[in-house]
Amino acid sequence: MKDRTLLMIPGPIEFEPAVLAALGGPTTSHLDPAFIETFGQALERMREVFGCPDGQPFILAGSGTLAMDMAGANLTEPGDRVLVVNTGYFSDRFAALLERYGAEITQVRAPVGGRPSLDEVEEKLKSNRFKFMTVTHVDTSTGVITDVQGLAALARRYETLIVVDGVCSVAGEELRMSDWGVDVALTASQKAIGVPPGLALLVAGPRAMAAFRRRTSPVRNFYADWTHWLPIMESCEARKPSYFGTPPVNLIWALNVSLGQILAEGMEARVARHRALGRACQQGIRALGLGQVPLQPEFAAHTMTAPRYPSGVNGAELLARIREAGVVLAGGLHPAIRTEYFRIGHMGAARLGDVLATIGAIETGLAACGYQFERGVGVAAAAAHYEN
Ligand SMILES: *Cc1c(COP(=O)(O)O)cnc(C)c1O
Repeated sequence: MKDRTLLMIPGPIEFEPAVLAALGGPTTSHLDPAFIETFGQALERMREVFGCPDGQPFILAGSGTLAMDMAGANLTEPGDRVLVVNTGYFSDRFAALLERYGAEITQVRAPVGGRPSLDEVEEKLKSNRFKFMTVTHVDTSTGVITDVQGLAALARRYETLIVVDGVCSVAGEELRMSDWGVDVALTASQKAIGVPPGLALLVAGPRAMAAFRRRTSPVRNFYADWTHWLPIMESCEARKPSYFGTPPVNLIWALNVSLGQILAEGMEARVARHRALGRACQQGIRALGLGQVPLQPEFAAHTMTAPRYPSGVNGAELLARIREAGVVLAGGLHPAIRTEYFRIGHMGAARLGDVLATIGAIETGLAACGYQFERGVGVAAAAAHYEN
């Protein structure tokens, strides 16, 4: 029996062989001209993937949380007012880190599985002036996607910056920073970008960089300070070596391969494929009679699915049975409902076959747990909905 399992969690995901091969190559000097060429190219490609031709990309060793920290540290000065559009666990995390930098935070919340309406957000924006607002594009704890385009339009109208946590969305969900007026978007390598964990990725648009330059106090985070990293990113793009902290050489080789693959697929095709994967998975889950955490179908992300356990089924046992059937899924994350649901990631290199295998393994697990349903309906529904 082959011991390989299919990893279908909302990050890390399964990676393309060419990306893993790049990771396994001989490590060069971080000042080697070939490495600087790769680094420079990766920065240029990030602008395209994020849809921000005039943005400033940053690539740092770290996880998605560091990318959030970088945005918070560089944009916040003590006493700045910030609006957090809260859709779950990762929005809470943004609020917690902004508090460390002395932000005065206002939150606009929604019930678990919901999202604040544009009207509710606008009401807050009317009530006070905010330096910036944060939005979680896809909150990985609920599978809820926010209307970033609508929120960015509000940000422009009320002259506040908008920072998007796109860790579960960039290179999977549609995100057009410049067209929509998004000021900062950030992600991590191990999600839809398709590179093993270890990179914090961020693009800051011109208004965000101007706000950074207008600071009157030093950035209260030494490692994440753009004062150190901006010259490094600029010199890499000019194909000149420079040093602040040693970059993760192999991960950046791998990132450049993955960004090349993403752009070769094309952003529109990639977004369409993720939509189809999301539809297939969610229709498969629905056909099995399972509920989902997002309160309305249009709140559901396309990069992941958050099904509820059916009543009478023990969640830990179900996940163990699904794993025995060859597929690794994630348990709950949102503290209010942690034991009530599980999470499936379908992003990056995932294809229809992966979703069908996943729904099939879920059917096997449900049957083993004594859940009554007609075998095969989930897989059939997923396959039927992929195309339309
Ligand atoms: C995964 C994730 C993060 C955290 O990223 P790490 O790489 O685990 O630090 C932040 N926000 C969202 C929306 C995520 O999905």
